[in-house]
Amino acid sequence: MIVILKQNYPEARLSTLKDWLKTLNIDIQMNKGTACTVLGLIGDTTNVDEDMLRALDFVDNVQRVSEPFKKANRKFHPEDTVVEVGGAKFGGDNKTVLIAGPCSVESEEQICGIAESVKAAGAQMLRGGAFKPRTSPYDFQGLRAEGLELLLKAKRLTGLPIVTEIMDISQLDLFADVDLIQVGARNMQNFELLKVLGRGNKPVLLKRGLANTIRELLMSAEYIMSGGNSNVILCERGIRTFETVTRNTLDLSAIPAVKELSHLPIIVDPSHATGAARFVRTMTLAATAAGAHGLIIEVHNNPSAALCDGPQSITPPQFEEIAGQVRKLEAAL
Ligand code: PEP
Ligand code: MN
Repeated sequence: MIVILKQNYPEARLSTLKDWLKTLNIDIQMNKGTACTVLGLIGDTTNVDEDMLRALDFVDNVQRVSEPFKKANRKFHPEDTVVEVGGAKFGGDNKTVLIAGPCSVESEEQICGIAESVKAAGAQMLRGGAFKPRTSPYDFQGLRAEGLELLLKAKRLTGLPIVTEIMDISQLDLFADVDLIQVGARNMQNFELLKVLGRGNKPVLLKRGLANTIRELLMSAEYIMSGGNSNVILCERGIRTFETVTRNTLDLSAIPAVKELSHLPIIVDPSHATGAARFVRTMTLAATAAGAHGLIIEVHNNPSAALCDGPQSITPPQFEEIAGQVRKLEAAL
């Protein structure tokens, strides 16, 4: 349930109302926006008399929120949430944040070299997997702890904040200096992992599962937020359909749909969505036009020799060209 307050509500009476709601075991989330102030009531609100609340002279309106996601719901928080990661701002009217880097960290020269070139080409963040979720146990699994060390070296070298994937709660201590923790598509519904990340305050990049709905994505965000961590960035990375020409099907409509349902920022991964380097430019521009708050793009200095996801990786010069087109498109919009 949400209670929309009139402007200039009396603080003392509001606090009496909140105290009464707390006696009913209701958690209150207050959001003061520029246009209005909203009280989000979370918990069993069946005993809360809607008409009684509406009759209070400092209450403008009362609405029951039927969706099971509350903290991630735009009704609870009408204004866009901006998540800041080492200077990069995701959400609201901020410019599209460009994240670039290889699928996986392979060596010091590789990650540091790519980091320098994507920075020069306009990236604001560096990506790189250390723990890799691979379909086959015989494929490269990532450099793991060593990969994280190398990624941190690239961060120190370039000043770019980093995003990398966590696959298991047991790895969390290694992520202390990581700026943005990625929960990959395969772990979107690893609820125990989400709960642990929710108890911290590090920003989380939550990717949509291979076969999950937008509402399920928002419920996973709710797991993180219900623990107290509201620094959640969502990512559309394509979903499984009957199509086989592309690796996945990029659901661009998820961008306006998420923006309608939630206040959280949403970014797009055109690399995993298409699986093909030659489609990355088109889908990057399409995602920008559709209103994505950011893009995460796989860039490799030598895609044909990449240990993971070479076919969908673009080169640093290609990234530079695409980054320039994103900025032009934004300006035109
Ligand atoms: C990745 O970002 O390298 C990755 C494995 O992504 P996803 O979880 O979307 O497949
Ligand atoms: Mn990849």
